[in-house]
Amino acid sequence: MRAPFALDLRTAFRGVRRRSGVLLAGPAGWGEFSPFPDYGPEIAAAWLACAREAAEEGWPAPRREVIAVNATVPAVGPEAAHAIVAASGCATAKVKVAEAGQSLDDDLARCEAVRDALGPHGRLRVDANAAWDVDEAVAAIRALDRFDLEYVEQPVASLADLARVRARVDVPLAADESVRTAEDPLHVAGLDAADVVVLKAQPLGGVRRALAVAEAAASQADLAFVVSSAVETSVGLAAGAALAGALPRLDHACGLATLPLLDGDVTSTPLAPRDGWLTVPETSPEPDLLRAVAPPPEEAAALLDRFEAAEAAAGPIGEEDR
Ligand SMILES: [Mg+2]
Repeated sequence: MRAPFALDLRTAFRGVRRRSGVLLAGPAGWGEFSPFPDYGPEIAAAWLACAREAAEEGWPAPRREVIAVNATVPAVGPEAAHAIVAASGCATAKVKVAEAGQSLDDDLARCEAVRDALGPHGRLRVDANAAWDVDEAVAAIRALDRFDLEYVEQPVASLADLARVRARVDVPLAADESVRTAEDPLHVAGLDAADVVVLKAQPLGGVRRALAVAEAAASQADLAFVVSSAVETSVGLAAGAALAGALPRLDHACGLATLPLLDGDVTSTPLAPRDGWLTVPETSPEPDLLRAVAPPPEEAAALLDRFEAAEAAAGPIGEEDR
């Protein structure tokens, strides 16, 4: 069974206002295929491999049953930032910095409030989404580290610049936007460009592929891994949780607490964290909720077309997916 779905985001996220895709049912359960709209069939084929793994094979045995997740603080003022972290119950917070139209002083005020809400033992990471150049990144990271940073996510855009920043600061760096395909973690390792690599199950071609890629990258460089979502329904988030559950080492809270970004879900037992921890429930989409998120016929047909184009690009199951 293939069920197209579309859900609005509660607030626009990096220019995206709607998440849509196709949910796929198979003997092992449900999988989600939801590549971003600008991705062609070759890239989408990896996302399809993740959905097929979930539907047809299921996931490898987990090494842990609960996963620490981080709170996410958008580019809001200090009071709002403090309230978000306090309400989350999370021991780790990721703070958006380098927002267009804001200054380093805004980032410092937000991080000060978040450190206050976390207390001295909480972990505070910042995410610049590649907005700084090398000199800006070095200056900002040195200033923000007065609040004791866990790491800085994607301070600059390119891997070469990431390596340049890394040579000049003591704070660990994480590669996120730099990792879009299964080859990218190896590029990060080869350039010694980061300390942490953000893994996402769909773009990396599923849980087993992501585990293999992480293992290969870690054999080349001293890397830690964290798992993040691609802003998915509970079906897609379950793949991320399976990956976080199966990694040999997991030293950082994961970015899997993203369900509230979507204006709805496909199950009444959603993959939502409690007090900063995610437990992975046995969850399946429910028919009435699937009907509620079904897009209009034209959009549904377009989503199924994308699915079939990715299928054609992927080739028969059993070759690249396993
Ligand atoms: Mg990021």
